[in-house]
Formats: sequence, C-alpha cells, structure tokens
Amino acid sequence: MNMEFKMNEWKEKVVSAGKTAANKSGELVEIAKLSLQISSKEDDIAKVYREIGESVYDAFKNADVNVEVEPRCEKLDILFAELEELKNRRAQLRDEHACPGCGKMVKEGHAFCHHCGKAQ
Ligand SMILES: [Zn+2]
Repeated sequence: MNMEFKMNEWKEKVVSAGKTAANKSGELVEIAKLSLQISSKEDDIAKVYREIGESVYDAFKNADVNVEVEPRCEKLDILFAELEELKNRRAQLRDEHACPGCGKMVKEGHAFCHHCGKAQ
C-alpha cells in the first residue's frame, strides 16, 4: 500500500465520519422539534378536553339539553391523528416502534419489550 493510497483512504474515512455526524445532529434537531410539536399538540388536546368539560357543566347548570360536544370531539379526532403522525415520525428517527402489547416505544431489533416483556 503506497502512501498516497493510505492518505486517500484516510481522507474518505474522515469525510464519511463528518457526514455521519452531520446527519446525526440533523436528526437530533428534527427529533427535538418533533418533541416540541408533540407537547404542544398534547396541550391543545388537554384544552379541548377542558372545553368539553366546561360545556357539559354549563349545560348542567343551565338545564340545557343541547350540549355542543360533537364539534369538539371531531376536533379531538383531528388532533389525535396529528399527534399520532408526529409520534410516528419521531419513532422513525429514533429507530423505534410501538410495542403491540403495551403501546410504549421499543428500539428496533429488540426481541422483547422492556416495559411489558411481550415478544416483538
Ligand atoms: Zn410492551
């Protein structure tokens, strides 16, 4: 192996390590962004739950039988679907999947869930 060949091989390794590190940090930024979006979505969901509770209580207080719960439940369906989508994207970046037993996240390649023990 001559010196020039060794140098080129070394340069390739450095370039490829740099690219891997850049990809990794890009993924970490993306995961952090998704985590923020997920907690904001969960706040939105909690807010709609509260609105539903308030409207039911208002209806009770006013002896009103026409409670406006349905539009808010439809809004919840949309929010839950958006939340699911964000969580799936984050799981993909983290190399995880939801356990079919308990629904918690498990690293790809693991034979068993470390939360509930179910075979994956
Ligand atoms: Zn599990």
